[in-house]
Amino acid sequence: MKARIAVLPGDGIGPEVVREALGCLDRIADLGGHTFVCQALPVGGAALDACGDPLPASTLEACLASDAVLLGAVGHPRFDANPNPLKPETGLLRLRAGLGVYANLRPAFVHPMLAGASPLREEIVRGTDMMIVRELAGGLYFAEPRSLTAERGVNTLAYARFEVERIARAAFEAARGRRRRVTSVDKANVLESSQLWRTVVKEVAADYPDVALDHLYVDACAMAIVTRPASFDVILTDNMFGDILSDEASVLTGGLGMLPSASLGGAVALFEPVHGSAPDLAGQDVANPFGAILSAAMLLRHALGLAAEAAALEAAVYDVLASGRGTRDLAVPRATLGTAEAGEAVRAALV
Ligand code: ATP
Ligand code: MG
Repeated sequence: MKARIAVLPGDGIGPEVVREALGCLDRIADLGGHTFVCQALPVGGAALDACGDPLPASTLEACLASDAVLLGAVGHPRFDANPNPLKPETGLLRLRAGLGVYANLRPAFVHPMLAGASPLREEIVRGTDMMIVRELAGGLYFAEPRSLTAERGVNTLAYARFEVERIARAAFEAARGRRRRVTSVDKANVLESSQLWRTVVKEVAADYPDVALDHLYVDACAMAIVTRPASFDVILTDNMFGDILSDEASVLTGGLGMLPSASLGGAVALFEPVHGSAPDLAGQDVANPFGAILSAAMLLRHALGLAAEAAALEAAVYDVLASGRGTRDLAVPRATLGTAEAGEAVRAALV
């Protein structure tokens, strides 16, 4: 197949890890007879430096004309004093809005090699392989009214039926590519918005008789993620709960640098590692590129429909880990690889 990929390396370690992910996509293209046309575009601090705008119109236009967007990271402390419209992170928020993405997928997978590095006991965390599907465009973060005075701060937790329906479908679809179990997380014992959430999720479930559905209150889910993480497949939840639960789940995995994400549902899907720009590591060839490479695997699966290629790329990353090799942030026996060496090791494992 032929696909156009907009590549937004961004700031800090972003360009270094994205370079390795692109190298892997090149190898996948060679092996499978695909053509991926990649176009590099500025975003974040890099775009502020280049043209004074963290998301230049030309970058958004090129993303919208592509089949998928692969992003590294944005941000640097030297922009901290900038007003909000001129912060690198504002570029990312505007990009998500401009693409119209509403479903954020964050897997938390504990590789057997890294189970010992988890803050949880190994016997609890072993076998953990969950996917959090977070609603990204509505709920407490965006619903109106919102206001702030010296005496009162107001946000609104509201969901419309169509918003719940579309995120529920994204979760059931994701479950079909996995172990076919969805746990919907809400606070329906207290919140009206959660009562609608639960009703609509049950209705959508009728279209997916092959997927099992259960419901948990968010407080119970927060506990279950640390007491029985391996019992979850797909967790479906709203914007606020998903923000908190996905960070909680990610810390179980023993490697921030390992974690990919996808933002789906809009005109074009966006793929990026969970980690940030890590300016402390930038330019030293020490950053872990696996989160970016696994994001490229999600791109192959969710944006291009290349499920076999995605699985092969994931398997190549896990082969490198299973051989005991990795970058220095990982608790593996030979944590000596540089960023470029780690990318090359994955490419060598791709057959
Ligand atoms: P940002 O503001 O962009 O989020 P940050 O300073 O908060 O940047 P993060 O990228 O969020 O940094 O990561 C926090 C720490 O985790 C980093 O300082 C770094 O030490 C480590 N880290 C993050 N990503 C990686 C990676 N890919 N490889 C190795 N270490 C990483
Ligand atoms: Mg950070």
